[in-house]
Amino acid sequence: MKKSLLIIVAALATNMAMSQTQIKHRTCGTHEYNEQLMQQDPQFKAAQEQIEINTQAIINEQANNGTLSKVTNVVNIPVVVHVVYKTAAQNISDVKINAQIAQLNLDFAALNTDSNLIPAPFKPLFANTQIQFCLAQRDPQGNPSTGIVRVLTTVSSFTQSNGVKYTAQGGSNAWPASSYLNLWVCNLGSSLLGYAQFPGGSAATDGVVCLYGTVGSMLSPGSTPSYNLGRTNGHEIGHWLNLRHIWGDANCGNDLVSDTPTQQGANFGCPNFPKISCNNGPNGEMFVNYMDYVDDDCMHMFTVGQSARMNALFNPNTGTRKSLLTSLGCTPVGINEVKDAAEIMNVYPNPSAGVFTLNFNADKIYDFEINVYNELGAKVYSKSETKYYDNVYSLDLNSLKDGMYNMVLTIGDKSYSSRISIQK
Ligand SMILES: [Zn+2]
Repeated sequence: MKKSLLIIVAALATNMAMSQTQIKHRTCGTHEYNEQLMQQDPQFKAAQEQIEINTQAIINEQANNGTLSKVTNVVNIPVVVHVVYKTAAQNISDVKINAQIAQLNLDFAALNTDSNLIPAPFKPLFANTQIQFCLAQRDPQGNPSTGIVRVLTTVSSFTQSNGVKYTAQGGSNAWPASSYLNLWVCNLGSSLLGYAQFPGGSAATDGVVCLYGTVGSMLSPGSTPSYNLGRTNGHEIGHWLNLRHIWGDANCGNDLVSDTPTQQGANFGCPNFPKISCNNGPNGEMFVNYMDYVDDDCMHMFTVGQSARMNALFNPNTGTRKSLLTSLGCTPVGINEVKDAAEIMNVYPNPSAGVFTLNFNADKIYDFEINVYNELGAKVYSKSETKYYDNVYSLDLNSLKDGMYNMVLTIGDKSYSSRISIQK
């Protein structure tokens, strides 16, 4: 009798230990969090409606001119990881964080090694989003950084009420959302794996929050069984980049993406292909999509339509997250650093109809190179001068269209950049 009691006690203890780390099925708080925010903040609701109008306009234009699947410009997003921990287990290692970034870069580039598990009919929709991530190389003040902020807290677990985003509430304040993706890693209550804020909201709370055990990769998994390959963050960053759950958060709902099949609801675990619902035969539900609720080892793809939707946020005219394109967050301080052109010259008029005058403060310049980049980072003009000897230079950019550009002048090993605007 004593023995059986011991077994029961042992079984109970095992159960309790497991309940701390195991999560029954994927739980993402984004939809609920978004509904709350929209109720509290009518401006956020209006902003989201405007973003949707802009997004659909861009996607329709791309669909009409056949460029929907031709994303060519790589977007580099600087990430700051706030590790807010109370226990040693919650203070996840740099190794796990680096593994997470690596997995994001594989998954968003369609280079994940498990893409062979995508059912054949969905393969043509498998997209390289051209969106990439780096751990921030500098902080908002321009000091060198590892992109990892560690904060010891007394808070046992956080909720969707954003306490983790405020130092005063035992969390860690956001870095400027215009230049960084804030990723908070902490202990979350209510079996929550993570939640994200859709674009258009307050900068102080903009970003992604995830359970510490979800951080990792296929090669270096985190500690939360079934959700430890880094896909929770891929899913949540998908939301942060304006993707909805693939079932549209309703019975046979609409996720605002044209190439994802309509599906009845969330999928859990790893279903068998095909799983038919909502008249979506013969291929059925795309449960291998990062925006479903399946286990990490069952998620393998974003679609072309989802990629277009995310990239619309980086449109040079209306993109809500376009400021990230000019963030220096991914650029290390020091070597080959691009300095502000104002240090050595005046550029005028700015805006200009096409011809800019570069007026150097003191030294006459000799050999130099000028490159001009558009808002997506593509080089659109390049010219080298040798044995030029003056402190005034006329830069003729009449061949370029109206818009904002980044002009980079390189002298020797030093580069200087200036934002310039062409208005004809
Ligand atoms: Zn979600």
